[in-house]
Amino acid sequence: PFDVLIVGGGPAGAAAAIYAARKGIRTGVAAERFGGQVLDTMGIENFISVPHTEGPRLAAQLEAHVRDYPVDVMNLQTAVALTPADGPGRLHEVELESGARLKARTIILTTGARWRQMGVPGEDLYRNKGVAYCPHCDGPLFKGKRTAVIGGGNSGVEAAIDLAGLCAEVTLIEFDGQLRADAVLQARLTSLPNVTVVTSALTTEVLGDGAKVTGLRYKDRSTDAEHVIDLDGIFVQIGLVPNTEWLDGTIALTQRGEIEVDARGATSLPGVFAAGDATTAPYKQIVIAMGEGAKAGLAAFDYLIRLAPA
Ligand code: FAD
Repeated sequence: PFDVLIVGGGPAGAAAAIYAARKGIRTGVAAERFGGQVLDTMGIENFISVPHTEGPRLAAQLEAHVRDYPVDVMNLQTAVALTPADGPGRLHEVELESGARLKARTIILTTGARWRQMGVPGEDLYRNKGVAYCPHCDGPLFKGKRTAVIGGGNSGVEAAIDLAGLCAEVTLIEFDGQLRADAVLQARLTSLPNVTVVTSALTTEVLGDGAKVTGLRYKDRSTDAEHVIDLDGIFVQIGLVPNTEWLDGTIALTQRGEIEVDARGATSLPGVFAAGDATTAPYKQIVIAMGEGAKAGLAAFDYLIRLAPA
């Protein structure tokens, strides 16, 4: 069995694996796709001390760094169930889609999250070419330009306020008849001179010139009239969905499906830790996922050294 089994191979999982392996304990990583969301990212400019890198390059470096240690990396393996240990010092079990079962004294869950997509024509084609999901990451690319934010919940309104400080114009598009964000955020939003709010609007298409976004088309749901807005960028803020469906019923999750963790990454199950975008830790970013992963690796080690010798 493993001393530490990490499920997920993004920045959080890689950091957890390195910190665990450096303690000389038996460490494994099972990942559906080693690299995680980083693989889908183009420019990364907020990975501190590295002014610019690219997702696929960072993902390759993550994997190379993990493989510097005797870590058992099981790539292209999807976990489908977690069976908790039936007592202190007993083994947890993770079942893979292949039917294989992995046993471990401690588990670190780092299965990340995925941005909910609009599912309209042009969205895939122009991803990273004007269609963006993370204002903290890509906002500065649109300095002085025209952007839209899709979604009028807290994250959409926060994104619009953030972008209004950088962009020439920001249009917030909400499907419903009204915004759902907290009143204080809505008040801040409406005080900004360069923000326009459009409600009852269904985005129907991302428009582009083949190389980049040039606008979006939406339907006014009250009149059925179609409108086009000229734009340089579109930030989609309709939800970040944690990859935790497979844990439902086994471990404490929030209503939104985030794994509840404490400051050390401990979950509701003894010996099971979690880190990164799949958890309640705020601000979903690479440096943060790495820091949380490192903490979970150390917390798992602390847990192990307190177990009665087998
Ligand atoms: P993830 O990166 O999501 O990794 C999750 C891992 O778990 C993957 O290996 C996945 O395959 C695996 N997994 C999922 N389910 C299972 C399962 N059931 N069984 C086994 N394995 C599973 N952040 C920045 O700091 N700067 C940026 O510039 C930036 N740009 C971004 C651009 C885009 C387009 C996107 C999508 C995100 C961006 N982010 C950026 C956010 C950043 O990528 C995430 O915060 C970070 O990757 C989270 O790391 P993680 O390890 O928690 O999860």
